[in-house]
Amino acid sequence: MSAVANLNLPDATGHFGPFGGRYVPETLMHPLQELEEEYFRAQHDPEFQKELSYYLTEFVGRPSPLYFAERLTKELGGAKVYLKREDLNHTGAHKINNAIGQILLAKRMGKTRIIAETGAGQHGVASATVAAMFGMKCVIYMGAVDCQRQELNVYRMKMLGAEVVPVHAGQKTLKEAVNEAMRDWVTNLRNTHYILGTAYGAHPYPVMVRNFQRIIGDEARAQILEKEKRLPDLLIACVGGGSNAIGLFYPFLDDKSVKLVGVEAGGLGIKPEQHAARFQGGSLGVLQGTRSYILQDEFGQIQSTHSVSAGLDYAAVGPEHAWLRDASRAEYTYATDDQALEAFMKLARLEGIIPALESAHAVAECMVRAPKMSKDALIIVNLSGRGDKDVAQVAAKVKLQMPK
Ligand SMILES: *Cc1c(COP(=O)(O)O)cnc(C)c1O
Repeated sequence: MSAVANLNLPDATGHFGPFGGRYVPETLMHPLQELEEEYFRAQHDPEFQKELSYYLTEFVGRPSPLYFAERLTKELGGAKVYLKREDLNHTGAHKINNAIGQILLAKRMGKTRIIAETGAGQHGVASATVAAMFGMKCVIYMGAVDCQRQELNVYRMKMLGAEVVPVHAGQKTLKEAVNEAMRDWVTNLRNTHYILGTAYGAHPYPVMVRNFQRIIGDEARAQILEKEKRLPDLLIACVGGGSNAIGLFYPFLDDKSVKLVGVEAGGLGIKPEQHAARFQGGSLGVLQGTRSYILQDEFGQIQSTHSVSAGLDYAAVGPEHAWLRDASRAEYTYATDDQALEAFMKLARLEGIIPALESAHAVAECMVRAPKMSKDALIIVNLSGRGDKDVAQVAAKVKLQMPK
């Protein structure tokens, strides 16, 4: 067990140990290099940081509260549970933190057109929002199945002036949407920036998205120190591509006493094609620009995935999580669809907070762990988003009736 992780990763080639890197067609090498150079220049430019911080405060509404969930804590009867309220951000999830960062970068690079992929639609909405704000054209690629299960977000994107392109290839979900976005980017490099929505893909995306999301952990650290005068014992976050989780975890990597737990989508259970838990039965491979754990068959064909939450329904996981897992710095588990639904309803009824189905996976793990911990232990759960987008889907699943 090595408890201290290397805060200086990725290395200069974008690797986190054996994970990460840049595995793309030749035509994308140059734009990725250009993006990398511009990003690192911006990161060290006080003017850029000032502008970023202005929009995060004035437009997104940061800092998001660290809220003591008193009734949930009582009900679970163990550790004290705090919720990091990313659900209160403008547009309803953590995705906007990264979208603001990347649109400012796009503006710096003189781009006038934005493209993005989206699963649950939250990243599409965040991208459409920042594109509207800065008067840029915006095209969002979304799997046809996801368009159906996240209808509300499709309408929001259209209202914000974005063009939504449904993708009918393959499984018609997030992976196919990423393929289409990459195809578009190769064709329109001159004026287009691709706002990738998670800590995934070719270098520099995983490090750049992590750094735009680390504000979650930086704030949470300061907030818990102020409220409790000490560091938390456990951080829990759901893991799709991995951006909300790495955003919370990263500022705590050097704090050995803080346990980090990522929660993947267990779907209908850990059987092939019934889940999206890459650390349960996934293996090393390359998908969409990076090297990481992937759900693939013995011939390297990407397997189908399933989750009740579109935002966690993806066959690969961000390379930094693969690294943290192999270094035993973070632990990865899963919650099933049923556990997530139960946690969704529980948080609504006990705390008056309707979480996103993705975030409900983290709440479900908290429900398992908190009762086994002592009453003075501290847990922070990342509430990555709110559940408005999931209301119709959950109402049907739990069989809520319309009043007659
Ligand atoms: C997109 C999304 C996720 C999953 O993405 P990560 O990059 O793993 O954070 C989780 N929660 C919500 C609310 C989302 O919109």
